[in-house]
Amino acid sequence: MGKIIMAHGAGGKTGAELMSNIFGKHFKNDVLDKMEDAAVLKINGRIAFSTDSFVVTPVEFKGGDIGKLCICGTVNDILMMGAVPKYITCGFILEEGLDIELLDRLVSSMAKTAEAAGVKIVAGDTKVVEGSGGLYINTSGIGVIPEGRNVSAANCKSGDVIILSGTLGDHHACILSARMEIENNIKSDCAVLADITNGLFSAGINVKTMRDVTRGGLGTILNEIAEQSACRIELTETDIPVNDEVRGFADILGLDPLYMGNEGKMIAVVPEKDAERALEIMRATEVGRNAAVIGRVAEGSGTVMITRLGGTRIVDVLYGEGLPRIC
Ligand code: MG
Repeated sequence: MGKIIMAHGAGGKTGAELMSNIFGKHFKNDVLDKMEDAAVLKINGRIAFSTDSFVVTPVEFKGGDIGKLCICGTVNDILMMGAVPKYITCGFILEEGLDIELLDRLVSSMAKTAEAAGVKIVAGDTKVVEGSGGLYINTSGIGVIPEGRNVSAANCKSGDVIILSGTLGDHHACILSARMEIENNIKSDCAVLADITNGLFSAGINVKTMRDVTRGGLGTILNEIAEQSACRIELTETDIPVNDEVRGFADILGLDPLYMGNEGKMIAVVPEKDAERALEIMRATEVGRNAAVIGRVAEGSGTVMITRLGGTRIVDVLYGEGLPRIC
């Protein structure tokens, strides 16, 4: 299939070929197929609107690729507001020299992930720049928030329970392993979290706060919630699930799973009366099979953790960049 050249970004014949042979082949739906200057959508009610850019390297990794990731990331952010994701737009920045067969695989992966997530890709753009065969993707997405849902980081109250949907650090450890050329079995957890959110809402769980545990890790998002809800968060270290191989990998490199990025994990904060049922619902899903209650909301401020040895330590936010180009 060859390589991307500058002409693929120009408005001429080469660009049109890329459109029909790659993007047109994988992305098809009633809105996109009209080929208008903008997608025309009918939306009722409150919407959740999010955008994210994806610069991960390598672009293909165990458990996923940048195509799957750019859909999961934006869809999960919309889901975390209690919304039903509907429409996605995508902007591609391709570097000259990019392998077209690789691009074809990544676009196919995007289309499959979007279909499984029930979202339509309704607008897109491609630019070609000088470079060394890399690519970047921006996705934006819109979801509709059903009546009566109010999910916010500011909703937590003393006594609420924090449930984590699974093991920490898998995506981060997978990308770092690939970057360092370390052979292991660690796979990215890259996944759409809709099965969990749908399960919680259809069971009538009073979901107060949800957050996907991405860049910055659990430590950072819990501090954000503690600040926005003006409360204290208390974690128990031994209750936080971490895959053995990821823990070993993190120990060797001196990394703390509390600050490692994930792409298919979330926390839900629920009232104590709903906690047991919410945990069962999460565990019944494939993406939430390792879910666990990891802590509670209390009066006060900040985030603390009861350690393995029984002491208490302050869990601070992540300072600086843990690992660049993880997502
Ligand atoms: Mg998020």
